[in-house]
Amino acid sequence: MGFRVLTGLFGHESNAFSKLPTALTNFEDYLLAFGDDVPAKIKGARIEPTGVEEAAAALDWNLVRTVVAWATPSGPVADDAWAACSGAILNAAETEGPFNGILLNLHGAMAQRRFPDAEGELLSELRAIVGPDVPLAITLDLHANVTDRMTEMADIVVAYRTYPHIDQVDTSWRAAKILDRAMRGEIKPKAVTARRAMIEGLDDGRTTVENPMLELLRQAGAIEKTEPGVLAISVHAGFTPADLDQAGPSVTVTGDGRDSRFSAIAETFMDYAWQTRHFDSNTYLGVAETVAETRRLIAGPGRQGPVVIADFSDNPGSGAYGDSTFLLQGLIDAGFTNAAFGTICDSDAAAALIEAGEGADVTVPLGGKIDPAYGPPLTLTGTVERITDGVYVALGPRWKGVTHRLGPTAVFRIGGISIVVASNRVQLTEIEAFTHAGIDPRTLDVVAVKSMQHFRAAYQPIAGAIVICDSGALSGKDISKLPYTRLRRPIFPLDLD
Ligand SMILES: [Zn+2]
Repeated sequence: MGFRVLTGLFGHESNAFSKLPTALTNFEDYLLAFGDDVPAKIKGARIEPTGVEEAAAALDWNLVRTVVAWATPSGPVADDAWAACSGAILNAAETEGPFNGILLNLHGAMAQRRFPDAEGELLSELRAIVGPDVPLAITLDLHANVTDRMTEMADIVVAYRTYPHIDQVDTSWRAAKILDRAMRGEIKPKAVTARRAMIEGLDDGRTTVENPMLELLRQAGAIEKTEPGVLAISVHAGFTPADLDQAGPSVTVTGDGRDSRFSAIAETFMDYAWQTRHFDSNTYLGVAETVAETRRLIAGPGRQGPVVIADFSDNPGSGAYGDSTFLLQGLIDAGFTNAAFGTICDSDAAAALIEAGEGADVTVPLGGKIDPAYGPPLTLTGTVERITDGVYVALGPRWKGVTHRLGPTAVFRIGGISIVVASNRVQLTEIEAFTHAGIDPRTLDVVAVKSMQHFRAAYQPIAGAIVICDSGALSGKDISKLPYTRLRRPIFPLDLD
């Protein structure tokens, strides 16, 4: 047996301005397994630990598995989840060493109640146990907020290169290959990060259109091939609602040893990110504009497939509550028919609809309960069309093979709109969120989803048109209302430009 490698996935994108703490139950609802239960838990899934398992088998590593933990973005990670998940990694580091190397799958924008830079804290505690010499590789989401502390503690930093994030397995492989060389003593990786006074940029990291992100990713791939000693260039668009001094876009260069050439590359990349900071490939429409544009598109000739409306601002995938009603109210008022809406997260309403039973006509208050400022409850009368357990296996490329759990779920029909009322907050990335409930989006005229960008992986192929709506919920484009206290200032776009 070859190298002994400590591994684990502990991923969360924490919205500092969400009222909802992220407890261990939220990880249980999405993805959670410990130690040797990990391989069975991730069987069939195409996620980062899958890549670690594949690489370990190919490179003849002996893996020490600790945890796989992922939860829908929400507020900072609560103490119980932090103790269980970071504890699994740190306990194994203490008791199951020595290790030839470490490969952790992290998000990079996790916050804990006590540690705004949660990954920096975890890596520091890990370093204190294993010492400075064990090669330590981390993979990150391209929405990571990479801090200097993370860069100092990790030797190898490798981030996704796709948004929607469909290269998770490949990302682990890229990190594993560099780690393997380091464990063989062929290289001594060190990471360096550059950033600018910006909390937004790089077109939020989207890779579905020609933009500054794609340009830098192309340059990164070329430089990795041609520049001696450059092992990996990671381009991060950052995560905006993080109350952290060093949040925002960044570029990390992992090089063989320390060399000013590596930081020069990172700085040059960030110069470009700064120059292109105003670029935004999305057109964000308010609710009234969304309704008007959707009407125009439905009436237009030659459309094949539904008009897919994405509510950018109420995306649970960025920590929004998923119970905002602004867009739903607009679609109901507009009288759209042959339409579906996914989802309103409201466990009380779901329970009331389930209690009433399929076929029942009922009146319930729906949505808007976590913070009515982002869309108040609506009192709606309609028909319970379907009741489900909310469980489906994702078939789209974003979460392929991962089981999603919406919790007890009901389809509530209001006029011509079938609303999926769920109990758990899950970003609507998958067609199966509808089909498991007997709704086929391909046959509809209008499909509304709560997602910023990840929905494109599954929905772009079936959509006749896509409309991006900023309905005014928590994750809207207007970030001037967010009460930052730790973010470095002045910063673009809050103070600069
Ligand atoms: Zn991301």
